[in-house]
Amino acid sequence: MTDDGHKPAAGRLGKVYLVGAGPGDPGLITVRGRELLQLADLVLYDGLVNPQLLLHVHSRTERTCRVQSDTGKHLPQDEINARLIAAAKQGLTVVRLKGGDPFIFGRGTEEAAALAAEGIPFEVVPGITAATGAAVYAGISLTHRDFASAVAFVTGHESPGKSRLSLDYKALARFPGTLVFYMGLGHLEEIVTALIREGRSRDTPAAVVSRATTPAQQVVTAKLEELPNAVSRARLPAPSLVVIGECVTVREAINWFEQLPLFGKRIGVTRPSHQFLPIAEQIVRLGGEAIPMPMIEIGPPDDWEPVDSAIDRLTDYDWVIFTSQNGVEGFLGRVWEQGRDARCFGGMRLAAIGEQTARSLERFGLKADLIPADANGEALAAAISLFVEGKRVVWPKANRGRDVLPKILAERGATVDEVVVYRNQDLASLPSQTQQRLVEGNIDWIAMSSPSIARNLTRLLPRESLEKIGTTIRLAAISPLTAEAAQEVGLPVAATASESTWDAMLAAIAEAP
Ligand code: SAH
Repeated sequence: MTDDGHKPAAGRLGKVYLVGAGPGDPGLITVRGRELLQLADLVLYDGLVNPQLLLHVHSRTERTCRVQSDTGKHLPQDEINARLIAAAKQGLTVVRLKGGDPFIFGRGTEEAAALAAEGIPFEVVPGITAATGAAVYAGISLTHRDFASAVAFVTGHESPGKSRLSLDYKALARFPGTLVFYMGLGHLEEIVTALIREGRSRDTPAAVVSRATTPAQQVVTAKLEELPNAVSRARLPAPSLVVIGECVTVREAINWFEQLPLFGKRIGVTRPSHQFLPIAEQIVRLGGEAIPMPMIEIGPPDDWEPVDSAIDRLTDYDWVIFTSQNGVEGFLGRVWEQGRDARCFGGMRLAAIGEQTARSLERFGLKADLIPADANGEALAAAISLFVEGKRVVWPKANRGRDVLPKILAERGATVDEVVVYRNQDLASLPSQTQQRLVEGNIDWIAMSSPSIARNLTRLLPRESLEKIGTTIRLAAISPLTAEAAQEVGLPVAATASESTWDAMLAAIAEAP
């Protein structure tokens, strides 16, 4: 084993991929980039990279940050180069993940040169650079038939007039098109003064786009001359990009991103960690930010024996009832592990509590015969009760939960076997980053996906956060039952889904006044 805990591939050189992560929205990485993240043994990422991208990384991957977030200090470039080279020499597949495009103001070229000098195989995957990402998400078109036939990407890092390396502001002022300054926020006043001094009109439309392509995106527009004041009044945080040119005016008509239904909303997702990603992606597509807030963890049952024996006797049953995705995955997962497949269900009938559960069944090649209109135990029991008299029913379920279902079915003359196929366990605390955000007041909504999660909030949320519920933090419930459970523990609910799905819960959040 190496220092990294990875097995070296004896004698074989690994490979380094310099990958552009895009400007912030995790959906803006390339297909190739995402593919490589899934393959990587080691990912070294810089501070601009959206952490949600790292959820695609396989667990054996070590993650290293170029900007040490606690100190804000940069690892020296030499150390990063050395790290990449050493890892490749150990035979590892390394992804060096960099914000935006690796070769635009990103020092990716230096990394590539260091690799080339050592004879390490490497590839470079371009990314969407901040300028195009920010412009598009701010509704600004960097080139435009009427306004701009050229665009220049400029570093604003150099203080105009003060440095030996300083840019030719005379040429920039005369540039016949849009100017985009990276790293320009700190020198905004000087940049603007230099451009106006060299002849750019003080009335030129201009904008600063902060945290572009993320739910925290903010845009300030002003005439060039007024931009520094407008920006300092708005206290825009980094990273920010300065866009100067007539094309800024199109924003008024085509600013689409900030109109998305969940734009700017920071939503705590109370699902177990392994189910976080699909919902997080849905939230991001709607313009919001998803914050992991797992409260329970799903694990294998303490004992597989009852499950195995139910699988052996499967054809004795008339119905199998699935009341959760975890139930499907627990039971069918075991069937597959045993080397069997959907055929062992023979002619029996299948019931699923809702569309999502039915979709999980489909992934195993099975179609539900019955899905009630409402996704809850009562509705399922009511729908199935017509068919179960004298029948044998098996219910793969969690180690705990409500048991209305077997009671109602037994009353209707069915024999119900309950088999625990997964363990549902309370987590002792929230992830530390989530706790931090709660303390800082950086969460707008908590989306509760079950009654037990509602009850768990009082256990897991810091007291100051509980006190904010109903004012700065609002609760959304996936169903009336979940809303009731929250209200029973004294927590007011601001939005309830019209049907028991995440889609409907997110829609309820979007519509809440
Ligand atoms: N290689 C990167 C740029 C790195 S330089 C790329 O291609 O985008 C860092 C600068 O990029 C920041 O100072 C800022 O000006 C800009 N930047 C990066 N991400 C940004 C974002 N989400 N919003 C606004 N500006 C951003």
